[in-house]
Amino acid sequence: NSTEEWRPFNKTSVYMSDLESALHYSLRVELSGHITISGDDLTALKKYIHVLAKYFPGRPSVKSALKIVDNWLQLQNGTEIRYSSLRDVLDNAVQTSDAVLPDGVQWVGCQGSQAQYRRYPCAVWKLFHVLTVQAKEIGSTDPQEVLQAMRGYVSSFFGCRPCAEHFESMALESMDHVTSLSAAVLWLWSRHNRVNNRLAGELSEDPDFPKIQWPSPELCPSCHGVKRTGEHHWNQEQVLTFLRNYFSSDHILMDYLQ
Ligand code: FAD
Repeated sequence: NSTEEWRPFNKTSVYMSDLESALHYSLRVELSGHITISGDDLTALKKYIHVLAKYFPGRPSVKSALKIVDNWLQLQNGTEIRYSSLRDVLDNAVQTSDAVLPDGVQWVGCQGSQAQYRRYPCAVWKLFHVLTVQAKEIGSTDPQEVLQAMRGYVSSFFGCRPCAEHFESMALESMDHVTSLSAAVLWLWSRHNRVNNRLAGELSEDPDFPKIQWPSPELCPSCHGVKRTGEHHWNQEQVLTFLRNYFSSDHILMDYLQ
């Protein structure tokens, strides 16, 4: 809301407060629009929570909370669940142990210059990048695991429906071709840049955060190269190194946490 105080932040860092806010928003706000969850949506939810429980590089209390929700969901063998039951687990079972899922949002690196800009969609991108990088660091056995979980979440629950349709068409086109954890990190990066390219100059763009082909040459000089023809090209090896560093759990800032 507009009375919220501006939190000064470093534009080139990832903040845990944004990632936790994304968890809260996806689990308590977006899902709450579904009274019951069944079929493909239930499968998508189980995969999404499972991936979060495995790879979210959070505080121990938040990781425990995600594990409790994951264990509970995996035990639900029926064809549908009620959102209210999931909400009970989130609010009660979780809070009685050492596990906590923060309530409410506190955007930091995803603050916009006005209330309609950035926030949740920005934090979703950051969360997804962090998850692909974590899967690479920890060594998932399946390069598709995180990508398909994100795909299912977006398709079933992401509130911005045109976004979901665009994302699904990119997934249909090439997500299945990803066969390594590094390729998964780069797939998401390059698709995010495609979205940036499409949205640059649109009304939804925050003037203080222009959509660019990211990372900029200032942020990662070695990521950029020039071909003999004079055309720009990405040095993908450098980009991968950069992403693994930028989104690594060691570099997430813990300022402003509730
Ligand atoms: P975002 O694009 O949200 O990026 C957040 C941060 O990630 C940036 O500040 C930067 O630090 C970093 N970043 C930027 N580019 C990259 C990259 N290539 N790789 C890694 N990190 C990067 N909006 C629409 O209007 N139409 C759509 O079709 C649409 N589709 C979307 C699909 C998905 C899956 C998501 C999550 C969002 C979508 N959005 C769409 C929202 C839009 O992409 C932005 O999230 C929103 O406009 C807020 O922009 P932002 O300036 O915060 O930067």
